[in-house]
Amino acid sequence: MSDKKKSELQSELVGEMSSARVGVFGGTFNPLHLGHLACVRTVRSRLNLDRIHVIPAAQNPRKPRTEGPSDQERLEMCRIGFEGEGEHVVVDDREIRRGGLSYTATTLESFMHEVAPENLYLIIGMDQFDDFDRWHRIDRILELANVVVVSRPGHVLPVSLVDFPEGLREHLDDFDRGFGQFRSGRTLEFVRMPDVDVSASELRKRLRTGRSVEKYMTIEVEEYIKSKGLYGPIGPRIGDGESFARFCAEALFAKKGLQVRAYDLRELTSPSEYALIASGTSTRHTVALAEAVQKAVKDEFNVFPQSVEGVSEGRWVLLDYGIMIVHIFYDFVRQEYRLEELWREGRDLGVKDSVLEAAKGSRA
Ligand code: ATP
Repeated sequence: MSDKKKSELQSELVGEMSSARVGVFGGTFNPLHLGHLACVRTVRSRLNLDRIHVIPAAQNPRKPRTEGPSDQERLEMCRIGFEGEGEHVVVDDREIRRGGLSYTATTLESFMHEVAPENLYLIIGMDQFDDFDRWHRIDRILELANVVVVSRPGHVLPVSLVDFPEGLREHLDDFDRGFGQFRSGRTLEFVRMPDVDVSASELRKRLRTGRSVEKYMTIEVEEYIKSKGLYGPIGPRIGDGESFARFCAEALFAKKGLQVRAYDLRELTSPSEYALIASGTSTRHTVALAEAVQKAVKDEFNVFPQSVEGVSEGRWVLLDYGIMIVHIFYDFVRQEYRLEELWREGRDLGVKDSVLEAAKGSRA
């Protein structure tokens, strides 16, 4: 260990503020991919940081929980993937140890006694910057760390303040040529890095369908995923598709879902073997219906969806369980898409609300 490193560690142990320049890079890392590695390497060398803490979230408050590896397995992927970076990258389990929703403000507060705010750098991708003003306790975040935003394919770096999320503009004193100053005294910097066109969600799909991932992750991480059997299909845990569709339909009926229909689509070329469709009376009801299905499936099968889309708007929420996709619409949006017409050739399972049927039976 170098003398510099030793003295830093010593001062941290006795509670002194180190003068090291430290980056904080959080994420789900589900799985870790080359985009993450490129971010860390580019920012470290461009900003001359002494080290970057890679911090896997226990639960990202802005992303729904999806099916995938355990917290420890995500940590291990990070350890394996960043091994070659030596002491410059610390894979840090503080959010996982803390558990619950992983708020960045709380994580930055936990660095307060180790690193002075002017030496702390929060690193995020450009996709995260688009709604950065809506992050929990954004004022506090902007007090505790400088912000570094890295380019990402599909997201344009802002040229002027007009391109900023609205709620962030009021926090800025000045912005010019990719460099800004927050009123809190912290800085904002945009870093362009070579495009690495990959996302964890796309990789999860590739892994589940057995497509090649070698262009997008290191061989060591890929080997770890294979050795642990991560990202396998969830079908075997769910069992028979028709019973699963009927089970989810019950969860929708119980929450007053309207026009609940289930289809067997195995005779059609369709991304899933079964489909479930229902309507809610409002965007809130639509989201509540989706939550009810997720909870029922979690309780019964201990399975989360592979992906969840549309919950922030609630017009059309989609839960992908691989073997079955659940579509929940805010009522009139369902008419626009006419999915049932596409599924005409499928078999309508004729699902019925069992509680209602039982009540009818007892009245007869
Ligand atoms: P998902 O596709 O599930 O949303 P992700 O690929 O964005 O996942 P995260 O773990 O959420 O992965 O990302 C952690 C951080 O890395 C975020 O700040 C994100 O913006 C950044 N990041 C991820 N992929 C890239 C990439 N290809 N280029 C630049 N930044 C990236």
